[in-house]
Amino acid sequence: MPIERSEELGVKIGLEVHVQLTALKTKLFCSCSANYRGMPPNTLTCPICLGHPGTLPVLNRKAVEHAMMVALALNSSISPQMFFFRKNYFYVDLPKNFQISQYDKAGGAPLSTGGWVEFSVNGERKKVRIRRIQLEEDPARLTYPGTITSAPYTLVDFNRAGVALLEIVTEPDMETPEEAYFFLQKLRSILEHLGVSSENMQGSMRCDANISIMGGARVEIKNISSFRDVRRALQYEIMRQKQLLRRGGVTKQETRHWDEDRQITVSLRVKETESDYRYFPEPDLVPVKIPEEWVSKVASQMPELPDARKERFISDYGIPEYDAIVLTSSKKIADFFEECCKLYSNPKKIANWIMSDLLRNINETGMDVTEMSITAEQFIEMIKMIDEGLISGKIAKRVLRESIRTGRPPRIVVEDEGLLKISDENVISKLADEVFREFPKAVEDARRDRKAVNFLVGQVMKKTRGRADPDVTNKVILSKLEENRAIPSRS
Ligand code: ZN
Ligand code: MN
Repeated sequence: MPIERSEELGVKIGLEVHVQLTALKTKLFCSCSANYRGMPPNTLTCPICLGHPGTLPVLNRKAVEHAMMVALALNSSISPQMFFFRKNYFYVDLPKNFQISQYDKAGGAPLSTGGWVEFSVNGERKKVRIRRIQLEEDPARLTYPGTITSAPYTLVDFNRAGVALLEIVTEPDMETPEEAYFFLQKLRSILEHLGVSSENMQGSMRCDANISIMGGARVEIKNISSFRDVRRALQYEIMRQKQLLRRGGVTKQETRHWDEDRQITVSLRVKETESDYRYFPEPDLVPVKIPEEWVSKVASQMPELPDARKERFISDYGIPEYDAIVLTSSKKIADFFEECCKLYSNPKKIANWIMSDLLRNINETGMDVTEMSITAEQFIEMIKMIDEGLISGKIAKRVLRESIRTGRPPRIVVEDEGLLKISDENVISKLADEVFREFPKAVEDARRDRKAVNFLVGQVMKKTRGRADPDVTNKVILSKLEENRAIPSRS
């Protein structure tokens, strides 16, 4: 199906990203451990995060500082005074029946407002505005056996209840699913560079997307678990809404769930409006003053961010801007690149191998870069094996592919599969003799036409599954053709 240009469809995409501040040791309003991953369910709880009546929340100062770092990195203006609000709703993941959150209306002020993120989409710069950033508590974690729509019961784990969350809301400035994908990638790289949220933790960054096309109603897609799926869910929604509108239907304001297994969105409920949440100020928490001095103190401790790192890559390593953008799109890859540069003196070559082969293979397997197990040492060892003539560049590509798929270091793949390059003339000579016997016609041709030599070289390559040194093979075959020529042929 031809994809129409998004301007014609008037696609408007906004994102609401929930980011766990995973670097914090404790929860947002109590001293329970925030490190719940891998812990037995319902073991990291106390009366506060279980919402017992009469308990009082106490704000985690570090959480505010980490949130301030994010606001500064996203060019968002920090409120001199912020308030917490109650967002009321009744659901099993929320024992108090309200979430302590923030609100930008009714006299409320969230942590910060405004701001922007600039990123690159296929070589073009794109700027997406931030509407607001707020602090709130994570609800409990729900597990649905099977799928959300068919599960006979739900399991609740309160270990996650009360973990510090940032809600980052953008303006609907994105026009394609691609832009949403690259926005998230850039945001994640910024968060990872700040060290406030770890990208390799399952569920540490959760995204809801709202989308409208051709001026229709805004549809919100909930619970999308990966960036890749954000792109897919949006692509699906554009298609669904387009077909609906074409048939004369109207899109209604609703919340849809992204069904990962079936790769479709399903209607969950007709959208509740803000007033349904009955927001009101949280009487158990005082307003928080954020004086200028506190902001500048936090600002002075900010680490290097992806944009600055990109510039440094260009000046320090002499690589093109495009390479620097790709390499800094993930902290893991940027760190990996710099480690490699300590071990090997050709940054451009390293960049090429990372971008063309490493990242491509990771993408092809559907893996995330954070799951990559190859180390800089192993990677450079492989590049050095090419330099030393132990393997060919072509074999190296195959080795890397295998290494990424299986997690085995390249050197081991080379050894296990006997992929060392064959440059022994005697071995190649024997193989060439076989080829000469098998293809007498081609040998005749090759004596007249040098172009036909390639066929013979190719046959030796085939016998060695690409391991024969092409230069040596070429040389051996040419000298054999000369020998043949020396024998006077009887005509
Ligand atoms: Zn607690
Ligand atoms: Mn929220």
